[in-house]
Amino acid sequence: MKEHYYVALDIGSSSVKTVVGEKFHDGVNIIGIGQTFTDGISKGMITDFELAKSAIKDTVKKASISSGVEIDEVFLKMPITDSEIKFSEESIRFGGESTEINGEHIESLLESLREKEMAGDKEVVTVFPVHFIVDDLHEVDDPKEMVATQSLAVRAGVILTNRTLLINAVKCVEESGLTILDVYSDAVNYGHVLTDAEIELGGVVIDIGADLTQYAYFERGALKYASSIPVGGNLITNDLTEAFNMPFDHAEKVKNQYGHAFFDMANDEDVIRLNQINSENAIEVTPKDLADIIELRVEELLLDVFEDLQRQSITKVSGGFVVTGGTANLLGIKELMQDMVSEKVRIHVPNQMGARKPEFSSVISTVSSGISFDELLEYVTIDNYD
Ligand code: ATP
Ligand code: MG
Repeated sequence: MKEHYYVALDIGSSSVKTVVGEKFHDGVNIIGIGQTFTDGISKGMITDFELAKSAIKDTVKKASISSGVEIDEVFLKMPITDSEIKFSEESIRFGGESTEINGEHIESLLESLREKEMAGDKEVVTVFPVHFIVDDLHEVDDPKEMVATQSLAVRAGVILTNRTLLINAVKCVEESGLTILDVYSDAVNYGHVLTDAEIELGGVVIDIGADLTQYAYFERGALKYASSIPVGGNLITNDLTEAFNMPFDHAEKVKNQYGHAFFDMANDEDVIRLNQINSENAIEVTPKDLADIIELRVEELLLDVFEDLQRQSITKVSGGFVVTGGTANLLGIKELMQDMVSEKVRIHVPNQMGARKPEFSSVISTVSSGISFDELLEYVTIDNYD
C-alpha cells in the first residue's frame, strides 16, 4: 500500500536527508531515514551535479533499507533562498446552482493562482491557502463537503523562488531516478514545527543549517513572512579554524563536541587539545576559549535575523522563537538567545523515534506538508488508523 508512505527529500548544504513517514493520528510517524554528507551543495544550491546525484541516491537507498519501503516517488523541499511571498485571491462561480465542494474545486483554485503568479525569473514553488470563502459569507479553513450556490473563493499565499535554482534541483532529483510528487517551500513546512498556540499567537522558526539560516514568521494560523541569510554552522567552524589555526575538519569535530554558544556558561576547566596547521605541536584551550569565538558569530547571525524581522514590522513575537536545524545542537544557543530577547525561546527537536535531531526538522515537516495538502485535495481516501 505504497500510497500511504510519504517520502521527503532535503538537499541540504552539509547533508542530503530522506525520511519515509506515514500519517499517524494528527502527526507523522517516521519509519526510516537516510542521511548522506556531501560537498555537492553550497548555500542550498547544487554546485556539483554528480556529487549531488550520488548523495541523493545514497540517502534514498539508506532510507529504503531502513524502512523496507521501495522508494521511487518523493516530496522535495526547497530552501527559502531568493524567494518571495505574495498574497492573492481567486474564485470560482457556480451561478446559482447548488454545488458540493470537493478537492477538485480546491485544486483548480490553487492551480489558477499558480498560473496567474508565474512571472519573470521567478517560479512558483508552493501555493498555500490561508482561508476559503463560501458564497461570499463563510470564512473556513477547509470547505470540502459544504454546499455553495454562488462561489468559492480562496485567499492564498504564493511562494516564488529563483527559477534556475528550482529547475536544477528538480533535474538533479529526476536524474537520480526519482519522480517528484510535489515541491514545498520550507516557508510552508516550518508551520508544522510550531505548536497550535505558537502559530496563533505569532511565532518565528529559525533553522540554522550549515550555509543557511532560514526563518519564517507565522501568526493567526498562517505564514506571514519568510527569508534567509547565507550564514550558518560552516562559518562558525571557519571562525574557529582561523582563530586557533586548526584544519577545518578538526575544527568541525571540536565544535560539535565542545562548542558552546554562551560564553557566560561555558566551562573553563576542561582542557581541549587542538591540532595545528603546519605544526606538530597541538595547543591547549578550554571550552570557554571556543565559546568566546562562537558566541560572536551566533550573536551576529541572530541580530541579522532580528533586524530583518524588525524591518518587516515584526516586533511582537508573542508565541516565541523556535530554533532548529543542525546548529541548534550547539550547547548554550538557547541561553544566548534568551539573553537577547524577552520572548520565550525553545529548541525544536523532532520527537519521532530514530529522527530526534534538529537537522531533521525540515525534512520531517516536508512530510507533514505532503499529508496536509493530500488531505486538503482529497488525494488520501483511506486511513489505516481511524
Ligand atoms: P543548509 O540548511 O544550510 O543548506 P543543512 O540542512 O545540510 O544545510 P543541517 O544538517 O541542518 O544543515 O546542519 C548542519 C550544521 O549543523 C553543520 O554546520 C554542523 O557543523 C552543525 N552541527 C551539527 N551538530 C552540531 C553540534 N553538536 N554542535 C554544533 N554544530 C553542529
Ligand atoms: Mg537545511
